[in-house]
Amino acid sequence: MKPFLTLLTATLALSGLASAADLKIYPYDGAHVLAGQRFDLRVEAGSVKGAGDATVTLDGQPVGNLVRSSAGDGKAEWTLRGTSLPSGNHTLQVTFKDDSGTSTAQAAWTADAPTTGPAKKVILFIGDGMGWNTVRAAELIAKGYNPANGMPRGRLAMEEGLGGMATVTTSSYDSFLADSANTASSIASGQKIAVNALNVYPDNTPDTLDNPRIETITEILKRTRGAGVGLVTNAYGADATPAAFGAHTFKRGDYAAIVDQYFKGAASPDVLLMGGSRDFIPQSAPGSRRKDNTDWITDSQKLGFTLATTRAELNAAKGSKLLGLFNYDNLNYYLDRAQYQDPKVLGDFKDQPYLWEMTQKAVATLDQNPNGYFLMVEGGLIDKAEHPLDWQRGVFDVLELDKAVAWAKDYARTHPDTLVLVTADHAHSISTFGGYDTTMGAGNREAVGTYQDAKFPTYGDKLDANGIPMVNTPRTLAVGFAATPDYCETFVSRSVFKDPSVSDGQGGYVPNPDICGETGAYFRIGNLPKSANQGVHTADPLPLFAFGAGAGNFMGLMDQTDIFFQIARAMGVDATKTK
Ligand SMILES: [Zn+2]
Repeated sequence: MKPFLTLLTATLALSGLASAADLKIYPYDGAHVLAGQRFDLRVEAGSVKGAGDATVTLDGQPVGNLVRSSAGDGKAEWTLRGTSLPSGNHTLQVTFKDDSGTSTAQAAWTADAPTTGPAKKVILFIGDGMGWNTVRAAELIAKGYNPANGMPRGRLAMEEGLGGMATVTTSSYDSFLADSANTASSIASGQKIAVNALNVYPDNTPDTLDNPRIETITEILKRTRGAGVGLVTNAYGADATPAAFGAHTFKRGDYAAIVDQYFKGAASPDVLLMGGSRDFIPQSAPGSRRKDNTDWITDSQKLGFTLATTRAELNAAKGSKLLGLFNYDNLNYYLDRAQYQDPKVLGDFKDQPYLWEMTQKAVATLDQNPNGYFLMVEGGLIDKAEHPLDWQRGVFDVLELDKAVAWAKDYARTHPDTLVLVTADHAHSISTFGGYDTTMGAGNREAVGTYQDAKFPTYGDKLDANGIPMVNTPRTLAVGFAATPDYCETFVSRSVFKDPSVSDGQGGYVPNPDICGETGAYFRIGNLPKSANQGVHTADPLPLFAFGAGAGNFMGLMDQTDIFFQIARAMGVDATKTK
């Protein structure tokens, strides 16, 4: 009769659970942090009957200073801001009693002990959307093959002379797929973060700025050693990747609040070189996206920042703090700035800096700080072009990023306390499957050559003023995307960008008739929901390339959150100290 008794017990236990309070703990169960890394402890109870009260212990000792913020409306929560853990394994235990009885929950956490490490300076390059497949397409264009013997003509700067190399997998707190906010946050703070959130855990309030926070590498370096912090991107300044190294919010669209945190928050970057001034200028200014009168152009100068709005001003800028805003929104794609140069596309912004120029100026500025620095440089437009299936614009932006990497590698050779990392935040579904013979016309499926008919591309027969191959050449690549809306394909690069799909006026999207009307364009049915107007991120793995001091820490297969801990190890971070 024993199995029957067991079954009866299980049934009773389940019915007990049904009326228990719903308990949540942040940091989540299984969280990994640095000893001394600051975080907000949050305990929440839902489905509460009556007032209820909780006992919270850490490793068996009561946790003091927890502030209870609401009660009586079916929920209750307790918060302790800015706490941290000593090194070792820890267990937080919550016992909650209300009119329905007693509920319990626990979270196990690990805190890494401080280390010593050789790197004082870190230059972290993030190619947004730059999966292995995207890097490979860029390498085929930049280097290609010797047609006499099929040998590769070389590698990208990011792929050569490696001190460490890893394959990185990504995921979110709430999905196995990821966006740029939570992936960059994983690198910045070592946590799994919800899609669209930046360095905070979820909570039960609608306010997106009050969520429990976790300290980022930039904040830790500022706090513990007074290091310099720099954020560089060719996307708009409040975009998710730079924001992950300078802000905390549950909603990446809190643009004004993100920019405010750049100047008022704990990371307090010394260098901000980026597109998009929209979120820095008062609502009265043309192009502003703010809903208030804050004017960071003026106020940043009171904080000691030098302002640059053109490439010429950037190159001439001096001082220890630098704000560069070179467009209203994203900078223009590399192909538009360097090769197509259509005046209608470039508009008022004819003198935008290249990523390698922004990198050099950021390093020269940060180098004035004797305590070292952390510089994040984002190739932010790779992803922006991959979403609307313009693989040429995306891949040529990898080549722009690679020139910045080449410069940083040279710098690291003469500054041996520098770690240079190159990775991506997530991938796109881009795939190179053949060659394309443009002499046979646009959109011609018979011009796609596979296997031996792919032959070798002819990129490199003509170079632009920066030494990068011209996009238009007789034999190009046949590249496609695995995840698309309905759209029309031509296989060739167009001199003015066009969206692949347009609204049908009923919440769905149809192929852009402007593209479908181009010579040779043919219809391809999509595989995404009809509400999708562009391609999406994928779960495909990413490369990580490491050079210089501590590069050997980056090896093998890594979860993206491990990048944070390996940076801390390479830099010998001791988050238990405050300078
Ligand atoms: Zn994206």
